[in-house]
Amino acid sequence: MTNTAKKVVVVTGASSGIGEAVARRMAADGHIVVAGARREERLETIATEVRAAGGTIDVGPLDVTDRAAMIAFVTAAAERHGRVDVLVSNAGVMLLSMIGELLVDEWDRMIDVNLRGLLNGIAAVLPVFRAQGSGHLVSVASIGAHSVVPTSGVYSATKYAAWAVAEGLRQESDPGLRVTTVSPGVTESELAEHISDPVAREAMLEYRRNVVPASAIAAAVAYAVDQPAGVDVNEIIVRPAAQRP
Ligand code: NDP
Repeated sequence: MTNTAKKVVVVTGASSGIGEAVARRMAADGHIVVAGARREERLETIATEVRAAGGTIDVGPLDVTDRAAMIAFVTAAAERHGRVDVLVSNAGVMLLSMIGELLVDEWDRMIDVNLRGLLNGIAAVLPVFRAQGSGHLVSVASIGAHSVVPTSGVYSATKYAAWAVAEGLRQESDPGLRVTTVSPGVTESELAEHISDPVAREAMLEYRRNVVPASAIAAAVAYAVDQPAGVDVNEIIVRPAAQRP
């Protein structure tokens, strides 16, 4: 039995790829969506299409590395809709390179978006969840949270860390709080387009030939969200069937 009650769902990194697919899927499932990212124009286009299809969505600018902005974003969603039931912490960057290349600014960016962004989301939403006595954090990690390959050391570190934070939160929380980590394999999105290191970029072109659509990850998020209140889907890994490893 699933629980398809209408929920207020905040999604970070909703301007493309998996976050966009999650926002569209949640709206199509009848939930109230509050979607943030830095590219406002992209969000507005998505919002227009979602509303035309009968969905309910608010969009707004959000940089998850800015804790005050993250708190303001979640607070505004809670004030407008009376509650926040789900935070999908999805915003992320994958700036692959060999550690020896010392692309230190890119290391920092991955730590800031992938790890601090998740922590900022938790800092923003946990007080709301506590006041309600319920809530659901869905963290989009990666198969990079389960394995390391050359060029993925720092990216994987941020995703292992995201996995650990979610697991810690799950163990510490009251039963009303659910925590899910969704770990995608290679998924159609803009993620690899931001890699600056030519070697890692070239390797990714080959590696990313087999992909699942972002909607496949959105379906996994929907599965976790729609479970009855007492059922916490802790982790889902979704890979293309052809992906090795
Ligand atoms: P995209 O590059 O398509 O999407 C990334 C999203 O994150 C964009 O909406 C981007 O929006 C947003 N974002 C980046 N930086 C920030 C920031 N500082 N504040 C707010 N939003 C930000 O890639 P994906 O959809 O693939 O990535 C989504 C998540 O999935 C990431 O966490 C990624 O690590 C994870 N993942 C993806 C895999 C894949 O193969 N695609 C595999 C495993 C994990 P904007 O630039 O407008 O801010």
